[in-house]
Amino acid sequence: MILPRYDRRCGWYEQLDSVSDFPEITTDTHVDVLVIGAGFVGCAAARRMAENRPDAQVLLIDAIKVGQGASGRNSGFVIDQPHKRDLESHDETLKQKIVRLNRVAVEYLETQIERYGINCHWSHAGKYQAAVGPRGEQHLAHYESLLNKGGETYHCLSKAEMRDVFGTDFYSAAIHTPGGALMQPAALMRGLADNMPKNVQVAERTAVQAITRTSQGFEVRTGKARIQCRQLILGTNIFTAELGFMRDRILPIMTFASMTAPLNDEQMQRYGGRLDWGITPADHGGTTLRMTQDRRLIVRNSYRYAHDYNTPQELIPTIAARHREAFDQRYPQLNDVAFEYTWGGASGLSANFETYFGELEQNIFASCCDQSVGAARGTISGMMLADMAAGLKTDLLRDMQQVSGNPSRLPPRPLLRIGVPLRLAYERFKSRSEV
Ligand SMILES: Cc1cc2nc3c(=O)[nH]c(=O)nc-3n(C[C@H](O)[C@H](O)[C@H](O)COP(=O)(O)OP(=O)(O)OC[C@H]3O[C@@H](n4cnc5c(N)ncnc54)[C@H](O)[C@@H]3O)c2cc1C
Repeated sequence: MILPRYDRRCGWYEQLDSVSDFPEITTDTHVDVLVIGAGFVGCAAARRMAENRPDAQVLLIDAIKVGQGASGRNSGFVIDQPHKRDLESHDETLKQKIVRLNRVAVEYLETQIERYGINCHWSHAGKYQAAVGPRGEQHLAHYESLLNKGGETYHCLSKAEMRDVFGTDFYSAAIHTPGGALMQPAALMRGLADNMPKNVQVAERTAVQAITRTSQGFEVRTGKARIQCRQLILGTNIFTAELGFMRDRILPIMTFASMTAPLNDEQMQRYGGRLDWGITPADHGGTTLRMTQDRRLIVRNSYRYAHDYNTPQELIPTIAARHREAFDQRYPQLNDVAFEYTWGGASGLSANFETYFGELEQNIFASCCDQSVGAARGTISGMMLADMAAGLKTDLLRDMQQVSGNPSRLPPRPLLRIGVPLRLAYERFKSRSEV
């Protein structure tokens, strides 16, 4: 069984000043609801379950430290708009439902950030989608037509505005959508775990090795203990298959990011742009770029079929070189600014781009294959899993079920190991102007 590992590379996590410690479960334990995986799905599910059932004992466990998994390693966009295939859908009602669900997730996160004073650089910066050259501009024009159809507000930037915000002339066109938020993901995840309701116990470094159904519910075996519970919520995303569910349905895809040290005053002058913004590429295979509130530039690109789920360390120099090239193209004036961190992280896609949400088997609830937009989608999924497990019937839950689907079966693994890298290389080639 493959378990999550942490490699001490993620810039977001490594920057945290201090990290609280939630003890490992070492003695046999009995709880009402066990939530496995403390990412966006698991954290939201545990909190919402505690809110739904204040009398229930909820246990939230993770194999590694909270914030070290994909939910603490991403680019920090909490996106309200539908993504990729959902955005392309001709079903406007479905798209509106996704936007509504994502916005509920943004609000839920923001309520906790405000209530508990979580310092995670949360801001309503919205999102830029930017193009380089005719191919990207074509994608951007299509994106604009979809925004128009959905009645969304947006702003097309002039060349001067792009220079003023991004500090570079690299992009030929850009659109800003005001919804959604930016944040420091590892700080957010730690803050969420540190401020769980009283009836949620959090445990770290507690990896689940086996799940067995019993007459009372389930017995879950970890390295050092057995946990008995009545209901199970799996927030394990790509690792769900390792626990025996959704086998051959989840496509684990890894992507990579590099982060500079904070720019000093003189470098900021040479940079010439603003703080706190994020660009996603108009052409999907391109580069995501962020400037943080604390003056760090972040580059994300490159994909890999993550059959082994964790990041192969030997890949890091090659990836860092690619990120360097993307950075130098955008910021030749900052060629002395070094990357402080380079890391990888994997999230779940599916062959037919469907996201799974629901009751896998009686009293086992799960959400996975979020198509790599799990900050908002994972949060609302976790909330709705808890509502489902508590037997609630709400409009939001109905909408969640309607926008989710059934990830199709993947080809056998040996074929995936040949086919997926070829497809990813082809996508990278097609998007080369934006990498
Ligand atoms: C570099 C990068 C950039 C990204 N950028 C964005 C972005 O800007 N915006 C966005 O919305 N999404 C982004 N994503 C995707 C996003 O991070 C994921 O969609 C999201 O984290 C999925 O959340 P989750 O809770 O479903 O799963 P995860 O965050 O993967 O959480 C699953 C948890 O389960 C735990 N676990 C697994 N197996 C076991 C076990 N056996 N026992 C106990 N615990 C276990 C893991 O340790 C992990 O913490 C990005 C991803 C990467 C890698």
